[in-house]
Amino acid sequence: MRKVGRIFPELIKCLFSSPATVDFPKSEVPVPPDYRGKPVLIQEKCTGCGLCERDCPAAAIEMVDVGAKRPKPAFDYARCAFCAQCAENCRSDAIEMTAEHHLAAFSRDGVRWAPQYEGAKEKPANS
Ligand code: SF4
Ligand code: SF4
Repeated sequence: MRKVGRIFPELIKCLFSSPATVDFPKSEVPVPPDYRGKPVLIQEKCTGCGLCERDCPAAAIEMVDVGAKRPKPAFDYARCAFCAQCAENCRSDAIEMTAEHHLAAFSRDGVRWAPQYEGAKEKPANS
């Protein structure tokens, strides 16, 4: 009987308090500052040095030919561990960790990102 006496006030409290969960995706819990979400490339800053590809512990970065003088990094977010090593070590500050964390997709291609050709005049002669 004493247990019921303890449970009843708790039950009343729960009935009139707002839910602990959110109605995702209509609303969501904001991420904390410095959250490490999707890493993105700032293409104009990238020198194509390839350090990020060598440094990535998850092999989530591959340097790809974009038709410019130097290759640029492409990301496989299915492999990424969101460790931020690539962003920390890039000497040109060309990789930024964003708060984006909605990365689910229906295929592996949906979680890959590769830089596009930067302009027709930079395309290789044989393309
Ligand atoms: S993102 Fe940074 S580390 Fe990676 S290739 Fe570009 S300049 Fe080099
Ligand atoms: S955040 Fe970490 S795992 Fe993801 S691409 Fe950068 S170095 Fe690789």
